Amino acid sequence: MPERGLLIVFSGPSGVGKGTVRAKIFEQENNFKYSVSMTTRKQRPGEVDGKDYYFRTREEFEELIRKGEMLEYAEYVGNYYGTPLTYVNQTLDEGKDIFLEIEVQGALQVKQKKPDAVFVFLTPPDLEELRERLVGRGTDSNEVIANRLAKAKEEIRLMSEYDYAVVNDEVELAAERVRMIIDAEHFRVDRV
Ligand code: 5GP
Repeated sequence: MPERGLLIVFSGPSGVGKGTVRAKIFEQENNFKYSVSMTTRKQRPGEVDGKDYYFRTREEFEELIRKGEMLEYAEYVGNYYGTPLTYVNQTLDEGKDIFLEIEVQGALQVKQKKPDAVFVFLTPPDLEELRERLVGRGTDSNEVIANRLAKAKEEIRLMSEYDYAVVNDEVELAAERVRMIIDAEHFRVDRV
């Protein structure tokens, strides 16, 4: 029987540096694929449709939910975010690993549907630092920052649902820890 790929679910509060750590991981690791999410939020300067996200209208997104084409989805600070199902299944069937960077509500749905997935949570060293990072990013209004921070606290409470917690004290180190976790998961006796 051909080996199936690993589904890696990577979460962490907004502003914790998930995108940066993910980019670091992908710099040195090309054995796995990245699942591009779909969202209804506005495209930020520099973001590319189809690479950072698939940017869609609410109507388009809701249509895909109705058709059962999302592995998971969540409303996050007023916008939909979700993982298209087909690409995930295709990649796993080809025996390749796939990496999802999603928030906690979506991760919990994946846990129901794909219990073999590996769940990794990226934590900030502390909440004050998280607030500074959100403000420093300069892309969001005060209200959005406050909402994201409240959401972050809620997300940190759900960390216990994950298999691993990785502290993002230093990007290189955090990326290395995630890579080691994925490596180790490949050697689990119950997977071979
Ligand atoms: P941002 O607007 O900062 O790009 O993302 C906001 C939050 O949505 C982040 O926590 C990000 O990880 C999460 N997110 C991105 N894509 C998905 C997805 O496909 N599904 C879910 N549930 N969350 C996502």
